[in-house]
Amino acid sequence: MSRNNIRIAVQKSGRLSDDSLKLFKECGIKFESGGSKLRSISSNFPIEFLFLRDDDIPGYVEDGVADLGVVGLNVLMEHTRKVAIVKELGFSKCRLSLAIPRGENYTDLKQFEGKSIATSYPNLTSQFLLKNGVKAEMHEISGSVEIAPSIGLAEGICDIVSTGGTLLSNGLKEVATVFQSQAVMIANTALSSEKQAILDKLLFRIDSVQRGQNAKYVVLNVQEQNIDKVTALLPGMKSPSVLPLATKGWFSLHSVIEENDFWNIIENLRDAGAEGILVLPIEKMIL
Ligand code: ATP
Ligand code: MG
Repeated sequence: MSRNNIRIAVQKSGRLSDDSLKLFKECGIKFESGGSKLRSISSNFPIEFLFLRDDDIPGYVEDGVADLGVVGLNVLMEHTRKVAIVKELGFSKCRLSLAIPRGENYTDLKQFEGKSIATSYPNLTSQFLLKNGVKAEMHEISGSVEIAPSIGLAEGICDIVSTGGTLLSNGLKEVATVFQSQAVMIANTALSSEKQAILDKLLFRIDSVQRGQNAKYVVLNVQEQNIDKVTALLPGMKSPSVLPLATKGWFSLHSVIEENDFWNIIENLRDAGAEGILVLPIEKMIL
């Protein structure tokens, strides 16, 4: 059956859902979500959403049941599906890490030789260890992995960590990182040209939203003699706008700065004579 919209699979409820829905809403796409809804068609963009368990998303995209999907790189790489990664989305950042009971000494990975490791990611874990010349026994379990060492199920674990709080509260310590993960958008590898055109439009909007999130709009006041010094500190999209103020000799300067350098730049601007600095969020940034 051919459709004239693109179908995207997103997680129904979990650690990917809120940020996924937020992203599409920031892209100006209107749709209903929440409750027991499993499908939703947008009223203003040719896209249909399917709300699914995250584990099922790569398979649906590979088979073409969905054209696109949002999923953690960890889940995607564990099952090596034939799909294209079209965008790193920058949220749901976490890592897959090896951990052992806190009271044990850790020297290096060789320590895992011949040991049993409880994990939901047996492929990623064993590939990582083999690459480091270590052969361990994988004990695959689908959840509550942290409990495994304390009940004698395994000697170590390999699980998703973000802050490390869960490991700590289960008496474990993180000893090695296997894989860095974040949410990615994936696509079927045989999209029609119509669907590819819709995907391109969607990616253009995502780029604009992401660029806006990484940047701030800065407005400040500066005296004429300090304009050059202050301007040199502001990379901007092109060059800053300089507008005269009602007070003689004073100017208002407008520019865009990267979120990463933010505090350093602000401090340098003050030292260079900038006053009344306003920092505003940018909703979208179209180049
Ligand atoms: P589902 O019911 O859809 O199968 P799940 O329980 O398997 O959900 P979640 O716990 O919601 O999965 O995690 C989904 C994805 O979010 C993970 O595969 C991972 O990429 C990411 N993730 C997991 N834990 C964290 C965390 N603590 N911080 C940030 N991202 C995380
Ligand atoms: Mg899951």
